[in-house]
Amino acid sequence: MVTEVTQFPASGEELPFYQPQNREVELFSYAWRNQLPMLLKGPTGCGKTRFVEHMAARLGRPLYTVACHDDLTAADLVGRHLIGDGSTYWNDGPLTRAVREGAICYLDEVVEARKDTTVVLHPLSDNRRILPIERTGETLHAPPEFMLVVSYNPGYQNMLKGMKPSTRQRFVSARFDFPDAQTEQEIVVRETGIGPELARRLVELAHGLRALKDHDIEESASTRLLIYTAQLIRDGFEATEACRAALIEPLTDDEATVEALMDVVQASF
Ligand code: ADP
Repeated sequence: MVTEVTQFPASGEELPFYQPQNREVELFSYAWRNQLPMLLKGPTGCGKTRFVEHMAARLGRPLYTVACHDDLTAADLVGRHLIGDGSTYWNDGPLTRAVREGAICYLDEVVEARKDTTVVLHPLSDNRRILPIERTGETLHAPPEFMLVVSYNPGYQNMLKGMKPSTRQRFVSARFDFPDAQTEQEIVVRETGIGPELARRLVELAHGLRALKDHDIEESASTRLLIYTAQLIRDGFEATEACRAALIEPLTDDEATVEALMDVVQASF
């Protein structure tokens, strides 16, 4: 399991850069102060993770990020007994550590996780705010600073795997989407250091690609992919080839679709 632990703020460091789209910064602060969990909905690569990193730093809380996948169980989150030196000992999982430390725990793509995880997430995400650790008999009461944040992508591949209403209705929710052109251009400039004119053309291209709904594409060209493309170009890689490698090929495996999308690229450069 991939768990990232980030302790903010590292001394003298700036907050992770986040360009707000709406009133999500304010909403998150209110939710945190009122001990309410949050659900972030939106397509992949639109800034959800960066937003949580920014908020954790702003609020001065450590952040535990867990990338959920279809093998992830409740024990992966809560912890398990391990064997060492001939005896067993208990090892806290990331969720348990976050509760003990009053941290922010971010479960990315939570609908991917096994169903048994809801058993631990439900009592933590309603007003009980408790984490029962079945294996040790312990019940942790989350301190006021603890916050549970989950994200999911309501797009194409999750149509069958959507979040159950009983889970969804425990969270204050914020909807994310790709930023408007001006904001996205600022993000690309800030993240990669390319000039504003090139950033404007790339953003225009991404918007053009996103508008093409009738192709065999599961996910749109994301801000993340736009940033990869800009990095390659900034470093001297030829622009249309950078678009092919970082913006178009990651969207689809179908060669005919790639070529059709490359026509859009050729028209922009
Ligand atoms: P998600 O978690 O939604 O999949 P990320 O937060 O990883 O997406 O965003 C991908 C990248 O896009 C980030 O690393 C960052 O460079 C950039 N990005 C997207 N939106 C923003 C934003 N609003 N402010 C700053 N950077 C952003």
